[in-house]
Amino acid sequence: LDNPLQPIISHAKEYGFIFPSSEIYGGLQAVYDYGSNGAELKKNLKEVWWKAMTQFNQNVVGIDAAIFMHPTTWKASGHVDSFSDPMVDNKDSNKRYRVDVLLEDKANEYRKAGDTAKAGALEQELGRLMDVEDMDGLRELLISEGIKCAISGTDNWTEVRQFNLMFSTEIGSVADESNKIYLRPETAQGIFVNFMNVQKTSRQQIPFGIAQIGKAFRNEIVARQFVFRMREFEQMEMQYFVRPGEEMQWYDHWKETRMKFLQAIGLPAEKLRYHDHIKLAHYANAAADIEFEFPIGFKELEGIHSRTDFDLSKHAEFSKTKIQYVDDTIEDKDKRKYIPYVVETSIGLDRLFLAVLSNSLTTAEGIDAKGNAKTRTFLKIHPALAPNKVAVFPLLRKDGLPEIAKGIFNDLRHDFKTIYEERGAIGKLYTRQDMIGTPFCITVDHQTKEDNTVTVRERDTTEQKRVKIEDLHAMINKEVSL
Ligand code: ATP
Repeated sequence: LDNPLQPIISHAKEYGFIFPSSEIYGGLQAVYDYGSNGAELKKNLKEVWWKAMTQFNQNVVGIDAAIFMHPTTWKASGHVDSFSDPMVDNKDSNKRYRVDVLLEDKANEYRKAGDTAKAGALEQELGRLMDVEDMDGLRELLISEGIKCAISGTDNWTEVRQFNLMFSTEIGSVADESNKIYLRPETAQGIFVNFMNVQKTSRQQIPFGIAQIGKAFRNEIVARQFVFRMREFEQMEMQYFVRPGEEMQWYDHWKETRMKFLQAIGLPAEKLRYHDHIKLAHYANAAADIEFEFPIGFKELEGIHSRTDFDLSKHAEFSKTKIQYVDDTIEDKDKRKYIPYVVETSIGLDRLFLAVLSNSLTTAEGIDAKGNAKTRTFLKIHPALAPNKVAVFPLLRKDGLPEIAKGIFNDLRHDFKTIYEERGAIGKLYTRQDMIGTPFCITVDHQTKEDNTVTVRERDTTEQKRVKIEDLHAMINKEVSL
């Protein structure tokens, strides 16, 4: 089977971005490790998001909550009862599937074939059965639609059952049910349970936001799309607390702001679109995804949800503590105390990584030194995100050139992630930097000794120009900021 992600997966492995986890043991499904270049890119993505949230907005503050939380958290949030997907096994192949995904694929097939009425009817029936959690009904629909197992070609399905996506473990030294705790499936709840602590200590007035970056864990059933869907992943979430009744204006604001952010870091407008949810979760009064055109098609990259006061009210109820805000700006004293409404923005860091990587991997027609046509592959990544900003090479390993090049490297590395290399032909060194997205290569040659200039080669154009050593810092600095 052709996997449209294969070129990205291969590039990511060969150039030190992403490896399968514990690969020497055969890997672990839907778990991945980031290599030396991947770790830098990931760190840069976190940094630009964190800055856009907590530095650019004076009324957004950050926190860093634990992965483990009191188990009642997940009862209150609804995750214990309903954070699950309907799952079915094929009895002949033992292959496991998500029923809703199988049926959605079928509806898409109808739509592609031009039968929108049939597609709509199927989606509506699927929505109804999911809402009332009718597992038998889902199985009947599966069979009546003639959906077969991709491996065995049969429709010999088991019962459909709800499969909870939360991982659990035991805390303390005694393993029994009362010590069972969960690995958080989202970072949001760490923000909700800390609402009162953060509001008081940060002296924020409504509207204000709390941002967080951290690991989340989901035992996903469908796990075959590289870092798009992982079992251990990272989220970047921001919960914005507002006055009830004003949530729609903030919902629109954050929808727009997040779209601008994604474009500012280099994702093209034509590969991004909104998908407004028609069917809403019971606690939401508006929800939209920002979708990105991955090599596997337009898929959710980020969610923007208006979650009402659902989470804070539930935590107040389950913890029997008072969670409320006193709004001095309201004249009517009786109306000053309320539970804030929440608008959240939630993006997967790894999914954003995949979006950036797949968007950047570029193959262009060019000409080689002899004037022949040849294709060139390079990573056209925003310089602010590039794992390394600049690489410095001496043209030859003699005549004092390495000493000058090392001097430049020693100067630049204080401010920029810089590479120094002296082994290999210049052309090969350029190609290697192209593959990992380094925006500038600096070469020291004999002319440098005469006029203190170096050759600067640009990644995207391959153009070369002479630049004075003293101007290098300013030139790089201009390009690497957002
Ligand atoms: P999906 O429908 O793709 O499963 P979701 O609607 O369950 O996603 P949310 O719970 O809204 O996702 O999570 C917010 C964001 O977290 C998503 O937009 C996505 O970027 C990211 N995310 C969710 N699940 C995963 C996962 N298994 N692997 C990587 N990123 C994920």
